[in-house]
Amino acid sequence: MQRRDLLKNLGVIPLAGMSVNGLDITPKELAVKRNLFEELGVRTFINAAGTYTFMTGSLMQDEVVEAIRSTSKEFCLLDDLQDKVGEKIAALVKSESAVVTAGCFSAMTLGLAGVLSGMDTKKVAQIPHLEGTGMKSEVIIQKGHNVGYSQALTNTGCKMVFVETKEEVEKAINDKTALLWFLNIQSDQGKITHEEWVSLGKKHNIPTMIDIAADVPPVSNLWKFNDMGFDLVCISGGKAMRGPQSAGLLMGKKNLIDAARLSMPPRGSTIGRGMKVNKEEVVGMYVALDHYVKHDHAADWKMWEGRVATISKAISTFPGLTTDIRIPKLGNITPTLHVEWDPAKVKISSKQLQENLRNGSPSIEIVNNGENHISMTTWMMNPGEDAKVAKRLKEEFQKAV
Ligand SMILES: *Cc1c(COP(=O)(O)O)cnc(C)c1O
Repeated sequence: MQRRDLLKNLGVIPLAGMSVNGLDITPKELAVKRNLFEELGVRTFINAAGTYTFMTGSLMQDEVVEAIRSTSKEFCLLDDLQDKVGEKIAALVKSESAVVTAGCFSAMTLGLAGVLSGMDTKKVAQIPHLEGTGMKSEVIIQKGHNVGYSQALTNTGCKMVFVETKEEVEKAINDKTALLWFLNIQSDQGKITHEEWVSLGKKHNIPTMIDIAADVPPVSNLWKFNDMGFDLVCISGGKAMRGPQSAGLLMGKKNLIDAARLSMPPRGSTIGRGMKVNKEEVVGMYVALDHYVKHDHAADWKMWEGRVATISKAISTFPGLTTDIRIPKLGNITPTLHVEWDPAKVKISSKQLQENLRNGSPSIEIVNNGENHISMTTWMMNPGEDAKVAKRLKEEFQKAV
């Protein structure tokens, strides 16, 4: 019998794991047989840098990968899934409503689209061409919060209006003002606090949105800003939460999330049609969040500190070299090892060191902070990789002194 006839008789398309012509193909065997990175010639590395998009963010939790695999075998309705997952997520983060988006950036675009359109599907289709539609078209932002991610907002056709003080906010507000946007990681770079921002929004009946993309840990930030009264809260799924890198969350008021979903797949003729999240990653994001909320964060912190100590101990005795552990106040809050040296005593530039680590075996990525200064984090490492990083760094410094 021809293979095609066999399939016709079976009446189904064979899936991995089925027996066709007595040939058993299980996903496990396939995975063992193929090292796709090697096949493709793609370099892999120990990530001693952090959760960088260009380094593919984070490694998904095993539970997330399992959720993706197990939900890939059946169909469901995308909206039905987002409804049910959204309810679970909202309960975990103490918001009225929530939806899984294609990252934090997409959460911002979609959230603002919802603010602009409300439940009017005609308006949904008009975004980003706002002129003459009756839709609002301005977003107010503090000057110090303008670090590039506001492109997510201007993608809707809105323009940004920059302010520095509360008085300037009140002066800038007019009948075109759609949103007051706040960037948590830059909150020390603006004169207006979170609470003041929220109360300005409430006073003028304008929704407030906050970007907390890289602001867990602490885990409590997942609900802090919902509790504080921000109408929309946006976060990345593929950073510290170790969900799919192409997923994130839009949390907040139910009427606004309902409106944002009108701009989301499966609906076409929308600004968000290209921001699709497949069903597996919708579930994967939920599982990542659920695990993250219930996780032992103190144990994680201890583990990260232990790894930092391993690396620090291996190199701190070199003359002319200093190590210290710093904890960022905002964003990527994790013990971060800074290594600086006197170029007269340690004769290697940080750029050369970075390249040597990158081209060595195993390949290692660190952060180059300029002339004689590098930094490292350990939260994206696999077990045992701290010792490998310590060994390689020691070798490099030994050659340089
Ligand atoms: C990473 C990041 C984003 C983008 O998030 P994605 O999940 O990659 O879309 C937005 N804002 C800030 C501050 C970020 O750090």
